[in-house]
Amino acid sequence: MKAAIFAGNGRFEIREVPLPEIPEGWARVKVGAAGICGSDLHIIRGEHPVLPDAVGHILGHENAGVVTEIAGDGRWGGGGAAIAEGDRVGIEPLTTCGECVYCRTGYYYLCESLKHVGIAYPGGFAEYTVAPVNKLYRLPEGLAFTLASLLDPLAVAVHAVNVADVGVSDRVLVYGDGPVALCIIGVLNVMGVRDISIVGHHDRNLRKATSMGAVCAVNSRRDSSRDGVSNDVSGYGEADAGSHDNGGGARPCGNVRGAKRFDVVFQCVGGGAQVMRDLIPRVERLGRVVLLGIATDLQLVPAFEVMAREIRIIGSNSYGYFRQRPEFEIALEMLDAHKLLFSHVITHEISLDEIEKGFEMLTEKDKSGAIKVVVVPR
Ligand SMILES: [Zn+2]
Ligand SMILES: [Zn+2]
Repeated sequence: MKAAIFAGNGRFEIREVPLPEIPEGWARVKVGAAGICGSDLHIIRGEHPVLPDAVGHILGHENAGVVTEIAGDGRWGGGGAAIAEGDRVGIEPLTTCGECVYCRTGYYYLCESLKHVGIAYPGGFAEYTVAPVNKLYRLPEGLAFTLASLLDPLAVAVHAVNVADVGVSDRVLVYGDGPVALCIIGVLNVMGVRDISIVGHHDRNLRKATSMGAVCAVNSRRDSSRDGVSNDVSGYGEADAGSHDNGGGARPCGNVRGAKRFDVVFQCVGGGAQVMRDLIPRVERLGRVVLLGIATDLQLVPAFEVMAREIRIIGSNSYGYFRQRPEFEIALEMLDAHKLLFSHVITHEISLDEIEKGFEMLTEKDKSGAIKVVVVPR
C-alpha cells in the first residue's frame, strides 16, 4: 500500500509498504480521510512525550474509512453495533489493556497501557490503517469521511464540556481558537448555551467561532496590549455581526449579560507562565477552569483567588464515557445531527502526496488560514 512515512525534519516519504498486520480482534480499514492533529505537529518536531522519535512511523489518528478485513471473531463495534467488512466507520484511536482498574471502571483513557492508533500503531496517513473492532463506530449514511475524521477532536470537546458540568445559563469563555476550541463552541451551541465568548489569535478562526455560536470574539494579538482577557472581554471586542447565528445579533463583548466574570473557562492553549495568572481573575465564584492545552511551561496560579472563590481547576484528557455512554458515540450523534455547524472547522482537504504541504500549512496558520487539514488518500 501507499503510505506517508515520517522521515524526520518535517519531511515525509510517500512509499509502497506492506499492509499493516491485523492482530486478533482488530480490523483493517481502507482510509477515507485522516485529519492532521496539533499533536502530530508536536510529534514531527520531536516534542511529543510518548513518541519523541517518530522517524519511520505512519502517523494519523483522526481516521475514518471502510472495513476491509476483520481478524478473529471480533464483531462488536463501539456503541454495541455489529461491524462487518464493507462498513463505513469512524475510528476511535485509543487502545487500552482492558484489564486495569481504570479500564474496568470506565476511565480507560487513563489506562497505563494507553496506546494510540497513529502513534504506537500505524495510522491513517496511508491507504490502510488498523484498529480494534470494538473501537469502530459505524457511520450513518450521509456522513462523509472528511467530516467523520473530526470525531476524535469532537469527542475531546464533548469530554471537556462534560467534565466542566456546563449549565445552559453559564457564562463561558473559550481561550484559544484551534480545532478543539471551535468544537467546544459547537458543542456548547448544540447544548443551548448562549453566553459564549472566545479569545484567540486568528481572525479567520474567530469568525468561524462566531458562526458556530460565540457571541463575543476577541483577537488578543490585535485588541490588547497583554493577554486579551483582563481587559478585552469586558471591554471593546466585538463579534462579527455578519456571520454568526446565535440569535439576537452580535453584541459588544462588554454587554454579554454584563458579565465581568465567567462560570466556565476552557483553557485550550498550552500557554506560557502567565496564562493562569491572567485567567483566574476572570473566573466567577464556584467557577471551573478546564485545562486541555498542552502546557509546556510551569504556570503561575493566583492561589488565594482560587481558594477564596472556590474555583475548581480541572484537567481534561481525551475522552471515555459520560453516564455509561461512550463520548465518541455522543460526538458521532452530534456531528451527524449538525454537519453544517461542525464543517466550519475543516478548512483544507489534501491528497496523501501533499502531506508535507498540509503540515506546512498548519505550521504557518497565519499565512495559510488552515484550521483543520484533512488528508484524503486518492
Ligand atoms: Zn489528535
Ligand atoms: Zn487498562
